[in-house]
Amino acid sequence: MTARITLVQGDITRQRADALVNAANSSLLGGGGVDGAIHRRGGPDILAECRALRASHYGKGLPTGQAVATTAGRLDADHVIHTVGPVWSATEDRSALLASCYRESLRVAADLGARTVAFPAISTGVYRWPLDDAARIAVRAVRDALAAAPDLLAEVRFVLFDEAAYAAFEEALAAQG
Ligand code: ADP
Repeated sequence: MTARITLVQGDITRQRADALVNAANSSLLGGGGVDGAIHRRGGPDILAECRALRASHYGKGLPTGQAVATTAGRLDADHVIHTVGPVWSATEDRSALLASCYRESLRVAADLGARTVAFPAISTGVYRWPLDDAARIAVRAVRDALAAAPDLLAEVRFVLFDEAAYAAFEEALAAQG
């Protein structure tokens, strides 16, 4: 059975899922927006694992478009998957990197055996990606990944912080069937 794509409006740190995706930055050492909220509510164990990743595999930071998992600390999830979205650019098309964030996060989730995965709208905050375009890219990337591996996941949930983001994802989902 193909996994369902669902939408909810709310705070991703209040969600229950096997894996919650963090819109991190490449330092993996915390930031604002989703990142700040995840570390605040998830507690210090997440940051401790991020620091260990920086000291081992990711000495220069996590590259844009890639994903890596840590504990979810006190969050109601088994894992947090950190991914680094591209900063939006008017002069350079970085869509492939944004799609990669979704694809790589789902790959990491599947490797961990996670069946339900919740995503925020990556790159649409501090990184300024226009919502409608980000929503189209996100929905397409997730649909393609699910089509390629239909039995791996049960649910992919987009958790949209406000009404505008929810509407953009609703429209993208409707437009892409
Ligand atoms: P980025 O740096 O990738 O742009 P941000 O965290 O700044 O990431 O924002 C990404 C999106 O997540 C924005 O649409 C923002 O409104 C939204 N957002 C911020 N806090 C939360 C939260 N706690 N839960 C879900 N979405 C959030």
